[in-house]
Amino acid sequence: MALIVQKYGGTSVANPERIRNVARRVARYKAMGHQVVVVVSAMSGETNRLIALAKEIMPDPDPRELDVMLSTGEQVTIGMTALALSELGIKAKSYTGAQVRILTDDAHTKARILDIDQHNLKKDLDDGYVCVVAGFQGVDANGNITTLGRGGSDTTGVALAAALGADECQIYTDVDGVYTTDPRVVPEARRLEKITFEEMLELASQGSKVLQIRSVEFAGKYKVKLRVLSSFEEEGDGTLITFEENEGNMEDPIISGIAFNRDEAKVTVAGVPDKPGIAYQILGPVADANIDVDMIIQNVGADGTTDFTFTVHKNEMNKALSILRDKVQGHIQAREISGDDKIAKVSVVGVGMRSHVGIASQMFRTLAEEGINIQMISTSEIKIAVVIEEKYMELAVRVLHKAFALDDA
Ligand code: ASP
Ligand code: MG
Repeated sequence: MALIVQKYGGTSVANPERIRNVARRVARYKAMGHQVVVVVSAMSGETNRLIALAKEIMPDPDPRELDVMLSTGEQVTIGMTALALSELGIKAKSYTGAQVRILTDDAHTKARILDIDQHNLKKDLDDGYVCVVAGFQGVDANGNITTLGRGGSDTTGVALAAALGADECQIYTDVDGVYTTDPRVVPEARRLEKITFEEMLELASQGSKVLQIRSVEFAGKYKVKLRVLSSFEEEGDGTLITFEENEGNMEDPIISGIAFNRDEAKVTVAGVPDKPGIAYQILGPVADANIDVDMIIQNVGADGTTDFTFTVHKNEMNKALSILRDKVQGHIQAREISGDDKIAKVSVVGVGMRSHVGIASQMFRTLAEEGINIQMISTSEIKIAVVIEEKYMELAVRVLHKAFALDDA
């Protein structure tokens, strides 16, 4: 007997028929003698619909009230899923985040999980129930409903698996695993049988939408065995996220995947004096406003001034620009503050980079051959990411996928 957490995404619970499918799969696992915790997302499109409704009332909705609204999406699907299980004669009980007591901080719309009370769930599981838990939501210390950021149900699933000491966390989605890149952009993309946790972390942070990044961080921290599977086809093996060190076999691919992201915007602070403390004076107020910064570059000009460029989420570009113009520009005597949201980030990821040279130059040559200009570069041990003009993004992904032999293999 194993304890399994199964998370189903929005497309997997998009209508009553699909919810019945979910219940049938859960029933099969129960029949094998396993204990099952199910985490569901809202029906696909529902969270967007709720955000749009809120915006009709207030263009920039109050985050606390937005969370109250957004949490209803998952509240509907847990009830429906529990009903569908009951219809199959399986004891099931639904739980909102607050009912479990998934305790989070109070950062509405992007809260972090602090603690999970597993007491009630454990008791129900031991009594033979399937527990159906609402993804994406929690409650703060003052009892306010919080949400975990878009795609946050993955994190709920993995966090529950960690808290309960589950044997496996299965993420059911509308693709049958993790691909070398998004098959909608490159039809030749292949499913990976396994991928290392580190690679998955990079892919998720570079824009692959298969798993929410926080869920991967959680899996890494608590060594949760994670598998991405399709909820539609007869169950294949999906993609296993492994913790094994790559042995560096000759056959192992150097690059595992290519991620892209059009959600970022570039902010440039031009003509600032090149002296200590500038980076802090620019990014301090941005961080104080809770704006996440991704890539950062700084150039030194010959005249003793420097340009400072960084990327933020597109939704936060205007906020970052006004903070810089209001609070920073005069202070540090910057010549100009500008923003550009017509950019995209494309990244190649693979643990094989550790033991191979020339990956960066191969990437840059491939892009140069297509006449694609690189605006920013950032690297880690297992990743090279570039910022380019948004309109070239799909082309860049296609040519890189081919150049790194991900098409065939
Ligand atoms: N329903 C939420 C969203 O659409 C959370 C999730 O699906 O993971 O982002
Ligand atoms: Mg998702």
